[in-house]
Amino acid sequence: MKPIAKSSKLANVGYDIRGPVLDKARQMEDEGHKIIKLNIGNVAAFGLMPPDEIMQDMIRNLSTSVAAGYTDSKGLFAPRKAVVHYCQEKRIQGVTVDDVYLGNGASELIAMSMNALLDGGDEVLIPSPDYPLYTAVVSLSGGTPVHYRCNEESGWMPDLDDMRAKVTSRTKAIVLINPNNPTGALYPESVLQGIVEIARQNQLIVFADEIYDKTLYDGETHTSIASLADDVLFLTFNGLSKNYRACGYRAGWMVVSGNKKRAKDYIEGLNMLASMRLCANTPGQMAIQTALGGYQSIKDLVAPGGRLCKQRDLAYELLTAIPGVSVVKPKAALYMFPRLDPKLYPIEDDQQFAYELLAEEKVLIVQGTGFNWPSPDHFRIVFLPNADDLTDAIGRIARFLESYRKQ
Ligand code: PLP
Repeated sequence: MKPIAKSSKLANVGYDIRGPVLDKARQMEDEGHKIIKLNIGNVAAFGLMPPDEIMQDMIRNLSTSVAAGYTDSKGLFAPRKAVVHYCQEKRIQGVTVDDVYLGNGASELIAMSMNALLDGGDEVLIPSPDYPLYTAVVSLSGGTPVHYRCNEESGWMPDLDDMRAKVTSRTKAIVLINPNNPTGALYPESVLQGIVEIARQNQLIVFADEIYDKTLYDGETHTSIASLADDVLFLTFNGLSKNYRACGYRAGWMVVSGNKKRAKDYIEGLNMLASMRLCANTPGQMAIQTALGGYQSIKDLVAPGGRLCKQRDLAYELLTAIPGVSVVKPKAALYMFPRLDPKLYPIEDDQQFAYELLAEEKVLIVQGTGFNWPSPDHFRIVFLPNADDLTDAIGRIARFLESYRKQ
């Protein structure tokens, strides 16, 4: 019989955060091994539950949402209005309820935004390293991902010269992940202004992923790039998965702002795709209203002495004590992207490196090339486990690296 093959559209699509190394970890778990999973920003798996108020409202809203049935394709009015108010707080001008789309997580909306835009050969500028969903959905939508470099030496800031040099007549948009996954970088206004200028000069859309905009350490503040101009088209993504630790509720939003007049046809496309998937799950939509209504308890976790802040400091201290390992200390988000000095660790295939670490020390990380980083000299960890587990996990990584050096 003829084998059933996957679509050729998937040829350049990958998502290594849940890739082949995770499959191997699952197989090892089935065999009875306990694996420490530092691969994924699944906050719930580390006992970080959503705020009580959101959970209680979710329970109350279950029956109401059954009665509501399907909602408007863009979502219920009240949570979209809450998003409008959030935009006002972030100084994004001119946003009305019509400009807000609710989705089953930001992921669904990110895919929708690329699907509605791209024709074969259209290019999108994506950071390297990136959150790999962007490279995957641009490819799946028929577009071509073009990576601009972020520089480790400057605290993982986007290299604006590289970005400028990579604009062609086929470039449609720039993706910006701020705060950044996987590096934990937070971009200052001067960098954001530089990106706005490149978008303005080349008539590009800016896709701004701000899903970690409240997960900030050391008293940092976040600027929404969409607040800096009204003559550029911005699509800003956010949601409850990280700041509100509710990733299982699949509740996210997208806001279209700036030069909407130029984008009438594109917006029609977005509306059509929103209609085709009917609507986002209703209890999740309702949770957005509660969350944005003022419950800000991520603040306690990221403040000095808060659990996430302490874990970030601990992970940084432990990793940088390992010979040949350097890390830019994250200012935001939940991740670190350490560098392994190639002189001490001449890694040729970093997926193989991740397999070996898993097999020997039962620790699951994601290799740097999984984030479209070009050389096999980085990896990503989450600093979500509690202090004891984090110390254990990084101790195992240190032991593995010691044996690697001696090879
Ligand atoms: N954007 C970034 C930068 C992320 O890191 C993640 C998840 O890790 C997402 C989007 C996915 O968000 P959601 O759970 O809302 O789909």
